[in-house]
Amino acid sequence: MIPPVELLIATTNLGKLAEVAAVLKALPIEIVPLSRIENAPAVVEDGKTFEENAVKKAHTLAEFSGLVTLADDSGLEVDAVGGAPGVHSARYSGDDADDARNNQKLLQALTGVPEDKRGARFVCVLALCAPAALKGGERLFRGECEGRIAFAPKGASGFGYDPLFFYPPLNRTFAELDCDAKGRVSHRGAALRKLAAALPSLLSWVTSGE
Ligand code: IMP
Repeated sequence: MIPPVELLIATTNLGKLAEVAAVLKALPIEIVPLSRIENAPAVVEDGKTFEENAVKKAHTLAEFSGLVTLADDSGLEVDAVGGAPGVHSARYSGDDADDARNNQKLLQALTGVPEDKRGARFVCVLALCAPAALKGGERLFRGECEGRIAFAPKGASGFGYDPLFFYPPLNRTFAELDCDAKGRVSHRGAALRKLAAALPSLLSWVTSGE
């Protein structure tokens, strides 16, 4: 039997950690939360793409911890504002940004925009990096989810822009779904399922470097 592989999840966002844990729970993986790594370095997310940021986070934490590390960079792209907030989703409303301010700013930016022009997608890129001591290397997994921006927030689950992200096939915002229901259709769920599907080759990669 293959022993569980320790996997560091490089996020301080408990909402993301819960979603990752929910999808990976059936796999032979022992999830190590970032809170277990003392003095973990903060990573400045200054990349122009989700891929750049995810790889930077995963590489930095993999080298620091010596563990195979999974990092997520994600965000919301809204068509009517040229794909904003994109890689700046977490800090959209400035240095004192929080979820409520970000949502408020987005609603204001879309004032007067009709329903059929409010298209948006969540994007999630997962980077899995092995530290140099384990032969290094990286794999990327991307997931997207199409929806539109509601006219007012609705629902109390999830995090970030979930109360504004209306998902037409379920006729709900993401904040009206529980964690499992969101994971079945979300950008992060899609990226995680690609990661899970790659697991057999992944395990031989991290355990033997092949
Ligand atoms: P980062 O990946 O830590 O840079 O942060 C991405 C930001 O995008 C989060 O702070 C949220 O504002 C937003 N975001 C990413 N994924 C989701 C999601 O599943 N629901 C709601 N907001 C999200």
